[in-house]
Amino acid sequence: MQTDVPHILIIDDDPVMLKALPEILRRQVQPLQITTFNSPHQALNIIAITDFDAIISDIKMPGMDGLTLLTEIHRINPELPVLMMTAEDDREVLLRALRGGAYDFILKPIVDHDYVVASLQRAMKTRQLSRQVAAQKKALEHHASELEKAVAEAVAEAKAAQRRLSFLAEASNLLAASLDYETTLTRVARLAVLYLADYCIVDMVQEDGTLHTVGLAHRDRTQEGLVHRLREGFEVQSMQEFENLSQTVRQTGHGILQPYMDDETLAKSVQDANELQLLRALGPRSLMRVPLQAQDKILGMLSFVSTRSDRHYGHDDLALAEDLTRRAALAVNNSRLYNEAQQALRVRDQFLSIAAHELKTPITSIMGTAQLLQRSAEREGNTNPRDTRRMQLLTDQTRRLNRLLDSLLNLSRLEAGQLTIDQAEVNIVALAQRVSEEMKLALESHMIEFHSDETKLAICGDELRLEQVLQNLLQNAIKYSPDGGIIRIHVQFNNHMAEVSVTDQGIGISDEAMPFLFSRFFRADSPTAKQISGIGLGLYVVKEIVTMHGGSIQVVSTQNQGSTFTIRLPLFDSQAT
Ligand code: ADP
Repeated sequence: MQTDVPHILIIDDDPVMLKALPEILRRQVQPLQITTFNSPHQALNIIAITDFDAIISDIKMPGMDGLTLLTEIHRINPELPVLMMTAEDDREVLLRALRGGAYDFILKPIVDHDYVVASLQRAMKTRQLSRQVAAQKKALEHHASELEKAVAEAVAEAKAAQRRLSFLAEASNLLAASLDYETTLTRVARLAVLYLADYCIVDMVQEDGTLHTVGLAHRDRTQEGLVHRLREGFEVQSMQEFENLSQTVRQTGHGILQPYMDDETLAKSVQDANELQLLRALGPRSLMRVPLQAQDKILGMLSFVSTRSDRHYGHDDLALAEDLTRRAALAVNNSRLYNEAQQALRVRDQFLSIAAHELKTPITSIMGTAQLLQRSAEREGNTNPRDTRRMQLLTDQTRRLNRLLDSLLNLSRLEAGQLTIDQAEVNIVALAQRVSEEMKLALESHMIEFHSDETKLAICGDELRLEQVLQNLLQNAIKYSPDGGIIRIHVQFNNHMAEVSVTDQGIGISDEAMPFLFSRFFRADSPTAKQISGIGLGLYVVKEIVTMHGGSIQVVSTQNQGSTFTIRLPLFDSQAT
């Protein structure tokens, strides 16, 4: 062991020198531990196990000459300074010793004590320095390897984090992609076996309180049948697992982590030999069970199982599984809300359809009677202007109501896939002109200008439905131009199609509203548009009817300046050249 007291070794076959030299040195160097040997062989043995500060050795000794000894010493420890003593001032020997690595020379008999002491002290200093350098080198090497280890760990950790993140991102994409939660959860199980588990089971609590497996996946698909059998045949057991989980969650706020499972654990966890056999075939080694919860209610559980002896789950894995399950729960909740919203929409549409059907007959009869009354009063000439205006108001309003009911009925037919389209020849020029003329009659502050260079553009379709389309577009043009103005309807032949455009000078449509214009029940929410009555069905029905005719509709609009709606309909084959 190295102490603070310098320790030197003197080797000489001359007993006088072995006595005298230590005395000289002890007198001048304090403290100093000196070991002496008269045989080079014994000295080499002790050098191999002792860390000397310096060695003083005679050059000429029986059994081994000083130069061979020097080589041997440096083979054992190259850093050890060796001072050679010689009685002859033989330049050749001295040079060979120096070349062989001797630190210095001491001439015998020793006359200059100070020189010997100074040389020894320098040698010991050199040795100390070389020790320090070695220690520093070792420390540096240690640091470097620690650093290397830390870097490797950080890189591995970063890679794992990266994998975790991309796994979760992929899971989120997957979960957002479907609103059908059973499909979604099966996908989650499949994803889990790519990254986190060898097999994964998703169980959901049903309305009657029982547990049902809605998704499962095994890394090796041929094993999925086994997992199925485990779930289907042992419902009571699954229920028990679920209750254990619920209890753990209530107590700890976390799922269950079972890092190690061996055959004994399996045997304890099962109810009969069949179950044990199935479990043994699957070979679970480590397990996590995580609750699927929404608003503090446990909706189900995800079981992640590792069958590999080198993968035992830890807290990091549990955190990841919980994160994944949280996302899955969110998706399940979204799909539940979506289904509820869809159901509410179905109820609304059903209600509207029934109401429209119920109202249609009385409105038709009121409209017919009002028109009859108006005509007979006109014929008999017994009405005053005020009554004429009232009659007109009555027929106008019932007609409006009738159109509204038509839209609602069309909607319910569209929803039920029952809106049919006749396939007859329709002259769209004549139809547009007739509808314009009819609508003109009831106008006060608006003007309708019809224009077409064609007299006939024949399309194949349903005249009644197309009339509804044109009426809706003209009606909107009138409605959304509250200050009046000119409404232009233009029919032309363009690029093998019949094109009808309706242009108004009204309030126009904002860019934000544009993408939703043809959606059911959409109404622009600008303050001016809001003041105008409507239910947001007209354009939806228009688009559907036009599409059913193989056509398309487009709109261009500038706010406060007006809009142009253009429909394009394919012509009869004979004309479409
Ligand atoms: P409704 O007129 O009953 O609200 P529509 O489906 O016919 O329903 O129209 C949907 C929405 O499109 C309207 O609420 C209105 O905001 C906008 N819109 C339709 N036509 C025009 C038009 N000519 N000018 C300005 N806005 C229009």
